[in-house]
Amino acid sequence: MSLQFEIRRNPNPRSDAERETILSNPGFGVHFTDHMSVASWTEADGWHDSAVVPYGPFMLDPAAAVLHYAQEIFEGMKAYRQADGTVALFRPDKNAERFQRSAARLALPQMDTADFISSVEAVVNADRAWVPDQPEQSLYLRPFMFASEAFLGVRPAKFVTYCCFASPAGAYFASGVRPISIWITTKYTRAAPGGTGAAKCGGNYAASLIAQQEAAEHGCDQVMFADGAERAWVEELGGMNVYLVTTDNELVTPELTGSILEGVTRDSILELAPDFGLTPVERRIGIQELTEAVAAGTVTEVFACGTAAVVTPIGTLKNEHGTFSVGSGETGETTAALRAALLDIQYGRTPDPQGWMHRIS
Ligand SMILES: *Cc1c(COP(=O)(O)O)cnc(C)c1O
Repeated sequence: MSLQFEIRRNPNPRSDAERETILSNPGFGVHFTDHMSVASWTEADGWHDSAVVPYGPFMLDPAAAVLHYAQEIFEGMKAYRQADGTVALFRPDKNAERFQRSAARLALPQMDTADFISSVEAVVNADRAWVPDQPEQSLYLRPFMFASEAFLGVRPAKFVTYCCFASPAGAYFASGVRPISIWITTKYTRAAPGGTGAAKCGGNYAASLIAQQEAAEHGCDQVMFADGAERAWVEELGGMNVYLVTTDNELVTPELTGSILEGVTRDSILELAPDFGLTPVERRIGIQELTEAVAAGTVTEVFACGTAAVVTPIGTLKNEHGTFSVGSGETGETTAALRAALLDIQYGRTPDPQGWMHRIS
């Protein structure tokens, strides 16, 4: 039986004026809308008590397993105001399937694709006025699931809480797209063979924060991780996948080895590549191979991709061997074109032959 998300209206929603003020400068991840969807799971009853409720704090027992053993997973997706005024999600089925794979890895219960999408649609419907209509703005959605059982033994929780809330997001690059600098760490890794690198779980992020600090100490915006076994192969950034463009017109991204997060944006770019005369290639990329190719000019562009920032040019790579400027250090042509193509699809400005956009009626 599919879950129903009936709405219990927030008796104290923000006024139109308050909402307009927030939407005039939403930033990222700092403001939250008036409602959220929730559901509970128990071993005995499965999923139940699903509803849209007023946005607000959880009552959580101090012994809740998530607070001790980090049994938690999440998703990140966006609702986009379309050129015709309607609202649509980008490939929500992909997020639902990844949520299922993450749940399996973290020994959390499965949620059906249809239920997952209903829970997201229900929040967007309740807070439709919060979907911004300015260029590159969107309503960021954060579905997540965690072990809420109060129990200190180490085993999968028998009580689990699901929630999806929404947060208006401004243009990621408020003053235009700017290439970022990357520190390639060999001191820290984010994922190991057999570990949780391919799951979207909070623990991966906790483990990556110190490497982000290391990057900042080296004057870089973001950190790039190598593989956990040899520390010789490019994996990804803390929250974005990586691509490079070669003089042979190849669009290359590290192949999925089980420790790389399978981004929806990554997957979409692989599919779009041929439209730009590029051959999509998934293979192992050596760190040394990358810096040498950047120095030699056979890799002309490097970029990162993910839901939050779409496509982000990388202008500089840095590690203990030196600093490597990618091309001219400015945003490359292919990077800019792919970024524009994705945004045009997401905002309904071009036809959608792949059927990626999911309208919310
Ligand atoms: C979410 C995430 C990405 C990007 O995935 P998208 O589905 O494109 O947003 C990449 N790497 C990590 C570690 C992530 O958590």
